Amino acid sequence: MFVGRGSSVLTRENGPQPADFADVRATNLAVVLRHLRTHAPCSRADIAATTGLNKATVSSLVTDLIDRRLVREVGMTENRIGRPAVMLVLDGSPYAAVGLEINTDYLTAVALDLAGERLLSWRRAFTGTAGQPGQAIAALAALARRTVSKLSHDGRRVLGLTVAVPGLVDADGVVELAAGLGWQRVDVRKSLLAALGEPGYPLLVENDANLAVLAEQRLGDQSGTGDLVYLTGGASIGAGIISDFRLLRGARGFAGEFGHLPLDPAGPACGCGRRGCLEAYAGLGAVIRRALPEVGIETALSPSEFGPHMDEIHRLAKSGDAHVLAALTETGARLGQGLAILANLINPACVVLGGYFTGIAPWLIPAASLELAARSAAADSGGTVIVASALDSSAAAAGGATRVLDAIDSGALPTPR
Ligand SMILES: [Zn+2]
Repeated sequence: MFVGRGSSVLTRENGPQPADFADVRATNLAVVLRHLRTHAPCSRADIAATTGLNKATVSSLVTDLIDRRLVREVGMTENRIGRPAVMLVLDGSPYAAVGLEINTDYLTAVALDLAGERLLSWRRAFTGTAGQPGQAIAALAALARRTVSKLSHDGRRVLGLTVAVPGLVDADGVVELAAGLGWQRVDVRKSLLAALGEPGYPLLVENDANLAVLAEQRLGDQSGTGDLVYLTGGASIGAGIISDFRLLRGARGFAGEFGHLPLDPAGPACGCGRRGCLEAYAGLGAVIRRALPEVGIETALSPSEFGPHMDEIHRLAKSGDAHVLAALTETGARLGQGLAILANLINPACVVLGGYFTGIAPWLIPAASLELAARSAAADSGGTVIVASALDSSAAAAGGATRVLDAIDSGALPTPR
């Protein structure tokens, strides 16, 4: 399968077909880079044999990649016919890809090197959610500056930065709606570019679930899976969907509003103003109120309380508290109802529970799986399995950095300096 156009296209295992569009050389550089990402260490001859590019072309491409410090030589080894060959690996030591996440109760920053290894992972509490995007942008800009400054200090150049936002984000980086943050039509990309003084690297803004599923696809236990769903477990429940190796965005980029699947028009009020959405049954607020009755139903839950309450629920579930276990079973069943709708539509191989769902996943998954199986048209839930994320709560930020690496793998290579 050949894919390559468009930076949202996943390029992890695209096979070695060289070229099909305008900039043949850039495409072929990316072909060699992707080959090395999955097969290094290997020799120039190995690359030629596997990609179908001729040896002279490969030599020239490798020289270019070495000049860009994306690839380096690591000494000699005997090849199959006994001749010594110089082996190549990804380098990227002068580079970093950065992802930031803003959520209702925290900010995170993750930087990855070219090979996907973590260079830094920061998290800090954040409560600027009272519908004041200006404050939030300032906090994001401060975090971006600190991250870039640390990486520069370590001798790395930032290749790109992607910001994850829990809301509807259009292709220009305008957040149409982020209910948890109290935002409506906030031009995050433009504001951040201005706050950062037009930095020299590409800056993108993307939905948090979309980025988290990219991270799972590249870095998580499900790496390489082409049909994957990630559910954010925060103030809202968003779905990042990869179908047939492509991120599913929809016409205007707003696909994956899983939390607002209407389960019952006469159900409880949802934060979106409608009734009976999945989120009203299985969002964090609902989980906390169901599991911890002492948290008053009338009290507005502050996002800063999510963490402590979820820790308490986790502790009680582990100790076998019957009420909490029943509450988690009920929550799992509601998630399963929603997942059955998704599974009947897109038949994912795997659904990953992320965010705060990760910690309580052992008690959600059995009931969710039963409900999914009962409501799936296909036998055995169409093969869909539900698992907990192995990435920590920085999945969306890691996905932001992954998004930068995807762009590099698609041919947006840094220029030599
Ligand atoms: Zn809703």
